[in-house]
Amino acid sequence: MLLSRPYIQDDESIESYIIRLSGANGYTVRQFVNIYFTGFQSYKDFDKYTPPLKLVNLNHGCFKNKDRISFFELISSSTRQDKARLFNNLVESVPSENLELSKYIYKGVEVPACLFRSESVPICPLCLVDSPYIRQYWHIALVQCCSKHKIDLLKSCPRCQTTISYLNHELILCCPCGYSFIQEPSSYLNKNHDEVLLSLVDLIYSSMTENSIRAELSSLPSDNIYTIFGMAVFYFQYLGKLTHLSKKFYAFLDFIRRWPRSYIALLSENADKGLRYLIKPSNESEFKSIFGSLLNNIKRLPNNLDKDDLIKKETYAFFRQRLLLDKKNENKNSVSNLLLTKDEVALLLGVSTDRVAKLTSKGKLCAKRKTLKAYVGSYPLGEVFDLLSETDSAIF
Ligand SMILES: [Zn+2]
Ligand SMILES: [Zn+2]
Repeated sequence: MLLSRPYIQDDESIESYIIRLSGANGYTVRQFVNIYFTGFQSYKDFDKYTPPLKLVNLNHGCFKNKDRISFFELISSSTRQDKARLFNNLVESVPSENLELSKYIYKGVEVPACLFRSESVPICPLCLVDSPYIRQYWHIALVQCCSKHKIDLLKSCPRCQTTISYLNHELILCCPCGYSFIQEPSSYLNKNHDEVLLSLVDLIYSSMTENSIRAELSSLPSDNIYTIFGMAVFYFQYLGKLTHLSKKFYAFLDFIRRWPRSYIALLSENADKGLRYLIKPSNESEFKSIFGSLLNNIKRLPNNLDKDDLIKKETYAFFRQRLLLDKKNENKNSVSNLLLTKDEVALLLGVSTDRVAKLTSKGKLCAKRKTLKAYVGSYPLGEVFDLLSETDSAIF
């Protein structure tokens, strides 16, 4: 039994709680984790190596999940705290071979791993003044400001510029240099009144806590958190060409601010530029030579948003519009002639590649190039779309 037993806050990260609990009982975090992990199977050489705090909550590969659960069970009994209350704040990691599909689950919200901060986590010093603990939703990379205090989150120490990372430093209220974040916060905080950003943070905050949404969300394209996560993943993996999120964050914000015009403009620009620079005529060129992995990226978005899939909806609408124009203009070098691979046809129609082969043998789809290779384009985009509107994908 621990002598000092603070309760975990509803929206507190587990690591933050462990830091507070250790401090309240006069332990360093390492000592605390060491004492509580002794005897578990994950670490035979425990004396030599204590796992760093940042590995405790994320179900890291070197932890056996059973040990992790026992660790938290022991903490709950030592703090006389309802187990459910503590477990409610755990983050579950769901790794996938396909990195794009790895995710974390927190309070039932599935967060794509690429949007989860697991090293450096910025803070709101004014929230820390209100109550000194780390809010779990600060771990979400789209949270760049505090919507309650309308200020940017603080990313680095105002004195020594070290990147703030309570996980690495095992400190909540100050920097390793000794600077206290809550001393005179107003002297270094940037005000932020960007409505889209504040709404975005509010949506994430309310999805991950029991709190209702404070602001009007009309400035966002959708109030479904998975739509927004999906848009972010799509933006950074496809449009942003894997640039790190923090570098292009404000470009992304602009992207959703001007949605859907922003997206249509990007696709049009891609199409026009791509056609101009094609080496061969479009009816001998691959769709992916202009649009890259667009169809794959759309299909792989980590969300469950069939009815609210704005990206899919706008992409299809863009191509439908473009194909109509192509028909009118009878332009030979057109988007509608671009060739899709069997895989891409399957993605577009929402069927298996076997089904595509069957549709081809029945004569419903026509392969312009006879090839068995799945990665060689042979189906003109226009014809696939014709089939798609004919059937409205219902018969598949
Ligand atoms: Zn705040
Ligand atoms: Zn510092």
